[in-house]
Amino acid sequence: MSAKHKELELVSVTKRYGATVAVDAINHKFQPGGYACLLGPSGCGKSSTLRMIAGHENVSEGSILLGGTDISDLPPAKRGTAMMFQNYALFPHLTVAENVAFSLKMRGIDKPERLNKAGEMLELVDLSALGDRLPDQLSGGQQQRVALARALITRPQVLLLDEPLSALDPFLRIRMRGELRKLQRELGISFIHVTHGQDEALALADEIVVMNNAVIEQAGTARDVYNAPTTAFVAQFIGGHNVIALPQGRFAIRTDAVGISQSDQSNLQGSILAIEYQGAHVSVLARVAGDQDISALVPESTFFNDPINPGDQVGLIWDDANLHKLTA
Ligand code: ADP
Repeated sequence: MSAKHKELELVSVTKRYGATVAVDAINHKFQPGGYACLLGPSGCGKSSTLRMIAGHENVSEGSILLGGTDISDLPPAKRGTAMMFQNYALFPHLTVAENVAFSLKMRGIDKPERLNKAGEMLELVDLSALGDRLPDQLSGGQQQRVALARALITRPQVLLLDEPLSALDPFLRIRMRGELRKLQRELGISFIHVTHGQDEALALADEIVVMNNAVIEQAGTARDVYNAPTTAFVAQFIGGHNVIALPQGRFAIRTDAVGISQSDQSNLQGSILAIEYQGAHVSVLARVAGDQDISALVPESTFFNDPINPGDQVGLIWDDANLHKLTA
């Protein structure tokens, strides 16, 4: 869509609502042309960050740069960004094509050109046949694609998506996330997608920005954040990790990097609290000295070669190279 990607940069961006600090002096350079997810629990400041980038909320302090230009004070339509909302916000009385063309109408572009452009966008999201329908004659997934086409018609450098999949049922959500990823690759523009779902962020993102309590706790590629969380919060929020205190410090270790041994040679001894069959894996929860609970995700066949039961004493084993030291 655009020959050259512009880098989006947040420079010490703060958002206050009265006495509430929703976003606290965050700094981040988004990878140009990448798929980024802002991930974190409800209330951590994700939407405020997105709305400031979009220009729907003013910045209390700091600045937002796109391609080196400060866009903090520009109106939303002049920024080179576009937003796709959670509830899609389609106009019920306008056809699909008119909905998609709406922002061009606001820019004074004449009707034939508007509808021509809308047709191109509907083709992009695979809805060419449905341009004359009204929004309530579409499925949830189709409405979402209309909302995408409507945001993309302004040819933004950066597409902002606020929990775009949360209104869909789980089956459709997984299908649509594949479509979002494909569309982002085809367009080659930056997507910034807000979600509180770690599986959604891992599945979609080139880059995950984990927020907590109004700050960025960790940012990196999906694999880096998952494989090497730097704080206890990130390890717990991203899932699939134990956070354990050992004599040499506090660490995160993936649950699938912990094994069960019935011999005396182990890193720690514990007693089995619970066993949960999960199909491909069996999740084993053990309590070790100091009342710490450690979870081991054991391949199903390994588990059933030598089954264990709640109450059994076992050894927990791991390779120390898989321990990640935590800072907080
Ligand atoms: P998230 O998207 O991560 O759920 P938000 O950015 O919506 O978080 O909210 C961050 C904090 O700012 C929360 O404490 C929230 O209650 C507060 N907040 C958000 N919007 C407003 C607003 N318009 N007025 C006052 N407080 C707000």
